Amino acid sequence: MSMNLVTLLYLVASVCFIQALKGLSHPTTSIRGNLFGMVGMAIAVLTTAALIVELAGGKAQGMVYVLGGLLAGGAAGALMAKRVEMTKMPELVAFMHSMIGLAAVFIAIAAVAEPWAFQIVTKGLPIPAGNRLELFLGAAIGAITFSGSVIAFGKLSGKYKFRLFQGAPVQFSGQHLLNLVLGLATVGLGLVFVATESWTAFFAMLALSFVLGVLIIIPIGGADMPVVVSMLNSYSGWAAAGIGFSLNNSMLIIAGSLVGSSGAILSYIMCKAMNRSFFNVILGGFGGEASAAAGGAQEQRPVKSGSADDAAYMLGNAETVIIVPGYGLAVARAQHAVNELAEKLTHKGVTVKYAIHPVAGRMPGHMNVLLAEAEVPYDQVFEMEDINGEFAQADVAIILGANDVVNPAALQKGSPIYGMPILEAYKAKTVIVNKRSMAAGYAGLDNELFYMDKTMMVFGDAKKVVEDMLKAVE
Ligand code: NDP
Repeated sequence: MSMNLVTLLYLVASVCFIQALKGLSHPTTSIRGNLFGMVGMAIAVLTTAALIVELAGGKAQGMVYVLGGLLAGGAAGALMAKRVEMTKMPELVAFMHSMIGLAAVFIAIAAVAEPWAFQIVTKGLPIPAGNRLELFLGAAIGAITFSGSVIAFGKLSGKYKFRLFQGAPVQFSGQHLLNLVLGLATVGLGLVFVATESWTAFFAMLALSFVLGVLIIIPIGGADMPVVVSMLNSYSGWAAAGIGFSLNNSMLIIAGSLVGSSGAILSYIMCKAMNRSFFNVILGGFGGEASAAAGGAQEQRPVKSGSADDAAYMLGNAETVIIVPGYGLAVARAQHAVNELAEKLTHKGVTVKYAIHPVAGRMPGHMNVLLAEAEVPYDQVFEMEDINGEFAQADVAIILGANDVVNPAALQKGSPIYGMPILEAYKAKTVIVNKRSMAAGYAGLDNELFYMDKTMMVFGDAKKVVEDMLKAVE
């Protein structure tokens, strides 16, 4: 296989990846985007495998291990992706990020141990300083991504008792100073490795990077978690790109840079959605104080509650209804029932629209994916900035398993989520809220919307409640 052919195939794979990102930017093109991604990855992997065999003069015995790894990893990945529930997707994504980080660390260790096996240098010669710098950066970012993603995994799953795995931020005095000192020490040790090729410096740098990954993520919690997910996504890409430079593999550099930069753009979009600066997120815990208190007793205040039949009556008599889906809708897997309800209302002449908050659910685009799965027509789905102006004219805003994204506390100075843009459901003429209890949302805050005179709470699992409404709408 000539190097020209390899370059050409890598180019084709890169174009596929760019098309994949483009396709994934909208639900209507996302399936095509995924297909492009799969084709691109297949081309990249097969070309690299052929290249390894070629470089080894057709005697690459190690390929058996590579193929074994590909089969085992591919089968495990396919099985996990097939079995995973929609609500567990964020943890799966965090797990994948951690694996990319760990892979970067292992490749860096192998490349430092036997650089000639990676064609970095002829056996017996020292690794050039430039390659050492790349290996240091790839390994450090990989280690931070790995341990940070493990903590994110725990925080997103919300089912572990271990304190560091809980949604509430872990903060202590001198935390930022400690992070700064550790960060500088990591860079210092990395530079010692670059200058001397010392194994001790390399492993000490790796150990500090693992600790740093934990320390960077533990103070972030509550409503800031979307930024963590996208930030770790970005880190995993940069770790891969760093290793790509060391291995002189243009495919890895391109794929890593695409993931790194798209993750960075997503982090920016998430920060904008929360009205937060990136450094604010990294340096503090948004919604943290309240999250910490969330486990405690909630104030008991009276609310108006009604049945699914009452809600169905109100919906059936409305002219315009705005549906606000949230994480609870995904938990209940009520998306199909909601679509049927919306269809029935539309059939009766009611105008139905869906309002999507950028951080609703537990991963970027969660609600879009959920509604697309139920084949909700895209022209009924509106982003926050496009629908907020319509709530005041809406007869009914029906909130299904959402909480933080409609919490007017975001408008009050002093609130932990002050400044976060919300879906302005509180402006609708009537508000129906479905959830199972008066428990707080992810940010751990009480929600004033539930206590308003025009609000009717309908308690129960979203799927059951929506199905009951569906039956009751005449
Ligand atoms: P929230 O987590 O704020 O609220 C979800 C609500 O759903 C809860 O109050 C819960 O109340 C209710 N609920 C849970 N299960 C059910 C069910 N089976 N049926 C009916 N209701 C149910 O969700 P939002 O979507 O409003 O906000 C998302 C939050 O998650 C934000 O704080 C965001 O920052 C954060 N986040 C978002 C990520 C992202 O990328 N999108 C990533 C990580 C965090 P009850 O228990 O009483 O039923």
